[in-house]
Amino acid sequence: MNIQNYINTIAKCSRPAEGVTRLPFTNDHVAANKLLKKWMTDAGLKISLDAAGTLIGRYISPIKNSKTLLIGSHQDSGYNSGRYDGIMGIILPILALKELNKKKISLPFNVEILAFADEEGVRFPTALMGPRSLAGTFNLKDLKLKDKNNITIEQALKNFGCNPKNIKSLKRNKKKLLGFFEIHIEQGPVLESKKLAVGIVNGISGISRLKLEIEGYASHAGTTPMHLRKDSLAATAEVINTVEKIANKNNNFLATMASIENKPNSVNAIPAKSISFIECRSVDDLKRKRLEKEIIKKVKSICKKRKLKFNINKTYDQSAVSCDKKMINKLKKSFNNLKLNPFVLMSGATHDASAMSDLCPISMLFVRSQKGLSHNPKEFTSENDMQIAVKVIEKFLINYKQ
Ligand SMILES: [Zn+2]
Repeated sequence: MNIQNYINTIAKCSRPAEGVTRLPFTNDHVAANKLLKKWMTDAGLKISLDAAGTLIGRYISPIKNSKTLLIGSHQDSGYNSGRYDGIMGIILPILALKELNKKKISLPFNVEILAFADEEGVRFPTALMGPRSLAGTFNLKDLKLKDKNNITIEQALKNFGCNPKNIKSLKRNKKKLLGFFEIHIEQGPVLESKKLAVGIVNGISGISRLKLEIEGYASHAGTTPMHLRKDSLAATAEVINTVEKIANKNNNFLATMASIENKPNSVNAIPAKSISFIECRSVDDLKRKRLEKEIIKKVKSICKKRKLKFNINKTYDQSAVSCDKKMINKLKKSFNNLKLNPFVLMSGATHDASAMSDLCPISMLFVRSQKGLSHNPKEFTSENDMQIAVKVIEKFLINYKQ
């Protein structure tokens, strides 16, 4: 079983350009699903396509009325992206089930492998419709949203062979579910820095974004002495420095400043208005909110000292999601069985699991990304690391019945 062959074969289901560009409900998606269906069938799975375009492969338990463990990730990619993001999280559990099937191991619960249509949100101005439909949180009004060719989600789904009218009925009964498990590339450098192939995720970061506008006034860069300036960009620079210091001092907290707009932005004029965004991420929502307040306090004092007007507004807030303790412990047990270091890390990126957390307990397994690269044609995960991940999934499934 060479996993890299599976990855490379499905990577060809893409627009002809550098890297992978596979958008939902396109011919490339049709071609990818055709391969997934073949691989699911080879693993002994029963296949169906739901009304939100999620391809499902079921490994059915011989025990009647048993619960179901959901495992999945997204088939789509961004533009000129990598070969592993999303799709690897569908292929690896299929291969783990193929092993169980080959060894004639049946499970006391059903497993469903879910290949979600759209997580990246690149084609339509929304994302996560597969998991949101299962959780009952998909907004049906979004069916009218259009891509840049004026095709609505509704039409794209119909062309894909789905009936959007049935999306409402996709909501799952959580009493019949054990949880959702997602395998994903790390998309960051932590596992590589620890020399580990795989890691257990403890939670998905909450995110807040603050829009900062600082206002001074423009004047001649040659005639205005330094002490008489009202420089909005110099103040923004001080804020950037301060935000970085706060983030450096606090574990499990990341802060980034970017998307800077500067007016008049000419080389001989003192900046009069600077707009920037401060993004904060943490798996600990309380900590994130506390540090957000600290940042706002510092912004106030910097602007006061420099006698500048400012405005700071929150434009986005997404709560953190914790992974389920019981599922984490089962993963730790699988790691220990395989003599792997049960290293725990957080996810700084949002995943399908984020939306699934509205439905049931979630857990995630990260697989090492070379140089931490992702959303990049150079994205790479080694054969050995993926083989280890398949073994972890297999053990995780076997441990679940104990
Ligand atoms: Zn992804």
